[in-house]
Amino acid sequence: MYSEKTVRTESVYEGSIIHVEKLTVELPNGKTATRDIVRHKGASAVVPVTPEGDFLLVRQYRKPNEMVSIEIPAGKLDAGEDPESCAIRELEEETGFRAATLEKLFSMQSTPGFSDEIIHVFLATNLLPGNPDPDEDEFVSAFPVPFPEALSMIRDGRITDGKSIAGLYAALDRMGLLKLAGSGR
Ligand SMILES: [Mg+2]
Repeated sequence: MYSEKTVRTESVYEGSIIHVEKLTVELPNGKTATRDIVRHKGASAVVPVTPEGDFLLVRQYRKPNEMVSIEIPAGKLDAGEDPESCAIRELEEETGFRAATLEKLFSMQSTPGFSDEIIHVFLATNLLPGNPDPDEDEFVSAFPVPFPEALSMIRDGRITDGKSIAGLYAALDRMGLLKLAGSGR
């Protein structure tokens, strides 16, 4: 009863990363409305934990908000690529490390209001040296951040990327480092 029936689909823009559509939908009350939708093939993101017990974060310039953003390593799924393989590949490309242990944390909708993008988030531990190999148009640098400092960076606004905020908290939770009253941990 909460569904919206698509009456008309108009392709507005076909880019290399996104496809924008304008949909006309029929609402439950019979009226029509338009929906602008950004189609995206999905991505994987990784929370890497070093043997020293730090997070490995990456710094890169993000054009939409004209800022240097501190994030967990991440990247788009290649055609036909499964999320786990993408996570392993992106981690090595952006940080130069491979993960001996990779665990799925969660999948999230980045912006359900106007995009179908799903981001699959993993925890990577037991890191081994590999080969950094960023994309040609990608300038990223990785650096270690102690767990408490990462939370401070979220609190004071140095980390504002949604997948990174969710991923870092979920990683701490998976490692048993988040304590909720009554959770029994
Ligand atoms: Mg990336």
